[in-house]
Amino acid sequence: MLTDSHQHSNLSVDGKSGPAEMFSRAVAEGLGAVCLTEHVDFDPGNPHFGYYDHAAVQKSLDSARPAFKGRLEIRTGVELDLQPEYLDAAREFLRGKRLDLALGSFHFVNQEFVGTAAYFRTFAPRNKDADPGRLPYSGNYREVVEGIDPALVEEGIRVYFNRLADIARTAEFDVLAHFDLIKWQGAATWADDRLARCAEAANGILKLLVSRGKGLEVNTKGLRLTCNETFPSLALLRAYRQAGGEIVTVGSDAHRAEETGSGIATAYGLLREAGFKFVSFFRERRPHMIPL
Ligand SMILES: [Zn+2]
Ligand SMILES: [Zn+2]
Repeated sequence: MLTDSHQHSNLSVDGKSGPAEMFSRAVAEGLGAVCLTEHVDFDPGNPHFGYYDHAAVQKSLDSARPAFKGRLEIRTGVELDLQPEYLDAAREFLRGKRLDLALGSFHFVNQEFVGTAAYFRTFAPRNKDADPGRLPYSGNYREVVEGIDPALVEEGIRVYFNRLADIARTAEFDVLAHFDLIKWQGAATWADDRLARCAEAANGILKLLVSRGKGLEVNTKGLRLTCNETFPSLALLRAYRQAGGEIVTVGSDAHRAEETGSGIATAYGLLREAGFKFVSFFRERRPHMIPL
């Protein structure tokens, strides 16, 4: 059974399609089960802050389900934006909520989207006359990273994996989403060269996930971006498997109906190649193993 465990409808601030539209597309793509994972943000400075409405999401999905009965299983998840200052807030948010899956992720460091040129530039030594206060988000996600000082890129990658390690070690979530998001604005070769230097850090994080019983996501959005490979790469999927990891979910990270189910079959193939026999689909925050 094909499953898509990471999707955003227009119940997320950056989603473009309504839930029913996403689900119709899922059926057309041959999926058997989906989990909608709307963004939940805790940093008041984040452009998405305050948008998530749990009651509205539940109501919307409850009303959409009957039309898909017997054709598509529809589950309710969230994607938590886990900034280090707000891990307690995230834990509090989860307490007592009826949810099927809590994806853990982060997107911003130094007020910039990770992996963008603007993000890497934040590691430049500050001009002493610059405002030392919080910088506003630039929102410039498209500028290519090639041409940025390699020392800044290395520092940006190092900081990214440190942050990811902190989350893997301490945060509450079920599955870690888009593990190596940092590579998204770089070509695949760019990512290979630079990420290879962080292999030790990345492998340490994968082992942490295994020891805490946390899952790893194969996010196919990367197949639609400059890096042109899944988050994470096949090499990291193999490393997670070799470390004893068994819980893997697959998600398109669709933000519009046309992206629903995109790359899922490819991701299943990568999982088989990495030695997995099962893909996980979460119900009531527990993994259910589906043969690949
Ligand atoms: Zn995300
Ligand atoms: Zn997402």
